[in-house]
Amino acid sequence: MKRSVVLGMLVAVGALSVGLAGQQRATLPDLMKVKDNFYVIGSASPVDRATFTGGNVSVFVTDAGVTVVDSKLAGYGPDIIAKIKAVTNKPITTLINTHTHGDHTGSNEGFPASVNIVAHENTKALMAKMDAFKGEKAQFLPKQTFKDKLTLGSGKDRIELYYFGKGHTGGDTMVYFPTLRILATGDLWAWKDAPLLDLANDGSGIELPKTLAKAIAALKDADTIIPGHTPPSKPAELQEYQRYMTDLVAETEAAAKAGKSAADAFAASTVTAKYPGFKSDRLKAAIEAIYKELGK
Ligand SMILES: [Zn+2]
Repeated sequence: MKRSVVLGMLVAVGALSVGLAGQQRATLPDLMKVKDNFYVIGSASPVDRATFTGGNVSVFVTDAGVTVVDSKLAGYGPDIIAKIKAVTNKPITTLINTHTHGDHTGSNEGFPASVNIVAHENTKALMAKMDAFKGEKAQFLPKQTFKDKLTLGSGKDRIELYYFGKGHTGGDTMVYFPTLRILATGDLWAWKDAPLLDLANDGSGIELPKTLAKAIAALKDADTIIPGHTPPSKPAELQEYQRYMTDLVAETEAAAKAGKSAADAFAASTVTAKYPGFKSDRLKAAIEAIYKELGK
């Protein structure tokens, strides 16, 4: 075979794989108006890679500028910015990362260098260990961190960031917008299914129901909840999720105490049936994680 033919074939194969990669990249959902100056760019199921773009992104437009919560998977920065520009000419000033995962921090690098990136101190430390934030890309790590609570802005533009304890990871922030009474939970509440318990990033299934209970008690005025991956919701559903987690942990602890294996605990689990509309796609992995925490 002539060299030029082989080269031509290689180029064709290269073009094909680029084309396929392009096709596989899901289109960003449209901006959804939640309240007057608050929008969400939605999420789809992480299981379906053809439509998944990363977690929910919250967009809060104020006189001083725009605050964005989470940045989805890598490569969506320009798309996110374009969607925001379609509804406001205010500059994006702040980006909050609720936690370390790449579907919430992946497009940090797509935001201008002037944007203040904010996260919990544990999350910054966890992000710094990710390949995505090594070397040159360390500039897209959080610039501002906090320990228990941080208030950004003032008056009607105030934003409160809270750390209530371990759960999905060891550094999850809940973001509260008091004027709008909107609470963005990040993946402390992602969906109506068992949580992903990221023990490698200091998460804890045993602590998660306690962490959620603290958040619910502290933020009673919230009337709208933005979960990590599902559409805007109501406080009653966050409370229901807290009860689900309490029951899941109690049931799993009882099974472990009775000497059951994690597989048997999963087989005997009744928690999903108690909560209409809940799935059990992630239940087995969650029970295994709780067993690991219990040293079983
Ligand atoms: Zn996550």
